[in-house]
Amino acid sequence: MTGIYARQLPVRFAPCTDELLSSWIIRHAAFYAISPLAMLRHCLPEMLSLRTADLDLTEDQVDRIASMFSIDPATVRRMTFTNVPQSSRRLIAGEPRQSCSSCLRIVDGANIILRSQFLGWRITCPLCGGRVQTIGGSDRPSPFSGYHKAALIGEGMLNDEAEHGIQNWLSPSEIARLLLMRRVPKSFPDRYEPSSYRVLGVIIPDLDDVLKLETRELPTPASPILPLHLRPALLAGVAIVQRAGPEMLSMLRGHMMGENKARFGNAIEEMVDCGRQSRRSSQLHLI
Ligand SMILES: [Zn+2]
Repeated sequence: MTGIYARQLPVRFAPCTDELLSSWIIRHAAFYAISPLAMLRHCLPEMLSLRTADLDLTEDQVDRIASMFSIDPATVRRMTFTNVPQSSRRLIAGEPRQSCSSCLRIVDGANIILRSQFLGWRITCPLCGGRVQTIGGSDRPSPFSGYHKAALIGEGMLNDEAEHGIQNWLSPSEIARLLLMRRVPKSFPDRYEPSSYRVLGVIIPDLDDVLKLETRELPTPASPILPLHLRPALLAGVAIVQRAGPEMLSMLRGHMMGENKARFGNAIEEMVDCGRQSRRSSQLHLI
């Protein structure tokens, strides 16, 4: 095989819609019978993993891939998470979490992995709008189906922030982080389990009881990707806080105690300040 050492690959495959860069590299690697990492490093010798390539590519690296596979650099960039701002990155999973049964594609025996399968705010498929399902598990019906409409709005807000840098008065991904912080309930039940009380439970009252029954490890502000049946609660919470405005954050703060309350207060101040500053600077741009 000499072709692979040429500047441009002799055989190239078109990426599928929403395909992740590493999925596309893996398909080429299979064709050229080398390991996926060797395929990537043939193009970008400095790369340590496919995951790094999915998350962060410099302009120069995008151009090098584009030239070797002779496709448009914008197409390469769209296959990665390079555009996603830092605040939304906690919501990008380390492996595919969900899939859409209508949009599953197998090309030449290889499963196409979609970018959207990693996104922790998705409850619907961005390609067809259908509901997504958990990979490798059976989905329980969501106890939060009553919040479906609000959840769709929250999904859109988190998506706009991550994919298009659009924020309202406050970053939706920061709201999600705050909502997953622990809170202290007003009255202490008989079997008090502190970890099942989250700020989110003030807005979505059914949440406390649902979390008490969860056997898996609960999501935290640092790792906020919820299983699909719980996800609508967080998405709806984000939409409700965004709509309600800063007063709601102060109300939520009232449900916390001690150190957590101080931390929450500081976080709110910081975020509202940042929001104000970025609004001010965007107003300056308009003048
Ligand atoms: Zn779909």
